[in-house]
Amino acid sequence: MTDLKEPDVASKVDFYRERTRALCAEFSGEYWRELDRIRAYPTAFVEALTASGLLATLIPTEYGGGGEGLTVGAAIMEEINRSGGHSAACHAQMYTMGSLLRHGSEEQKRMYLPGIATGALRLQAFSITEDAGSDTTSIVTKAELDGDDYVITGHKTWTSRIDETDLLLVLARTEDKGADKTTGMTLFLVDLREVRATQPDAVRVEKVRTMFNYATNQVWYQGLRVPKTSIIGQAGEGFRYVIDGWNAERILLASEAIGDGYWFAEKAAAYANERVVFGRPIGVNQGVQFPIVDGYMHVRAAELMRDVAVRLFDEGKPCGAEANMAKHLAADASWESANACMNTYGGFGFVDEYDVERKFRETRMYQVAPVNNNLVKTFIASKVLGLPRSY
Ligand SMILES: Cc1cc2nc3c(=O)[nH]c(=O)nc-3n(C[C@H](O)[C@H](O)[C@H](O)COP(=O)(O)OP(=O)(O)OC[C@H]3O[C@@H](n4cnc5c(N)ncnc54)[C@H](O)[C@@H]3O)c2cc1C
Repeated sequence: MTDLKEPDVASKVDFYRERTRALCAEFSGEYWRELDRIRAYPTAFVEALTASGLLATLIPTEYGGGGEGLTVGAAIMEEINRSGGHSAACHAQMYTMGSLLRHGSEEQKRMYLPGIATGALRLQAFSITEDAGSDTTSIVTKAELDGDDYVITGHKTWTSRIDETDLLLVLARTEDKGADKTTGMTLFLVDLREVRATQPDAVRVEKVRTMFNYATNQVWYQGLRVPKTSIIGQAGEGFRYVIDGWNAERILLASEAIGDGYWFAEKAAAYANERVVFGRPIGVNQGVQFPIVDGYMHVRAAELMRDVAVRLFDEGKPCGAEANMAKHLAADASWESANACMNTYGGFGFVDEYDVERKFRETRMYQVAPVNNNLVKTFIASKVLGLPRSY
């Protein structure tokens, strides 16, 4: 791993932003466009990010990582998207790792984290969503104890990057759903290298083609045997560990959307200045200017909410409301900025060589996954405003 030298710029966060920008500059729009055309994973980009140490910034130094807080991780994700890239290819490593960091045993951490930090091991996938959709406590994938192993059986409707990872987190029911629907689910850290070598038929993967370049899949667990030692934390408590990671996930996702939002605003402003119609730049017209400005202002406002959320997070204070609001506001703002950019480009917005239509498709996801904006609203409604729950 490349040595990350002491910051020689104003602040640590600026230092990481600069590093990320410099790395992203090596991966042009053409790089991302070509992958989008053929729906291929950005392996070279993820490997470069890993080799630079940037993807390991959240891993404590004692396990070989950067030992930084989420503020740095959020800035890195934001810069990747602001450069025109797509951080969704690797963001899960930052937020799913929290389960291992916070709830894994010391032995598990020593076994896996140093390898993740160097890039020898990839932890890019989590397998939670089923037909139950947003109602996670109604998952039916089962893990049954058999001697020293658990046997996992079930179907996951979405598991991204399973072919691009060595380690996989799987949530399964180890007890039937009871009065407390949040218990009875267990989180397993599955070593797919072993699975591929010894029981390849136990996991069936079917790629799902989506409207953008995203390596996602349906997965069938067909009697997958995993040792008891692969449980993270306590059996039956897995859903709590997943929830525990939600604030970090929301903050990182908000940051990606903020990066996109700025990319669209800057791209639109540049084009509006240079494109001449009726003998003058289209940016002279307020009908063109104002939507770009509206998008920009809302992205900036979302950024401020994200900054509050991430500061609270790094201070170890409650930040559920702020993290959720940041994710919602950022997803809406990036989408607004995307539409303004698309309109500014007119017909050329539909032409792939400008990257606008690609980023437009990419940024739409932040409204939906990994959590839907409606579900964010239900959180604010019940937890902040004391309104009745809709589920
Ligand atoms: C590209 C992509 C990659 C993904 N990768 C992964 C992955 O790697 N691992 C994984 O586990 N999952 C993954 N997911 C799944 C993702 O987390 C879910 O799509 C998301 O949680 C929403 O669930 P759903 O799509 O089943 O929507 P549903 O739960 O079917 O909801 C449909 C609609 O109804 C609304 N709705 C439902 N209930 C309520 C309510 N009570 N109040 C208001 N509105 C409600 C929702 O907000 C939504 O608009 C991925 C999804 C996508 C699109």
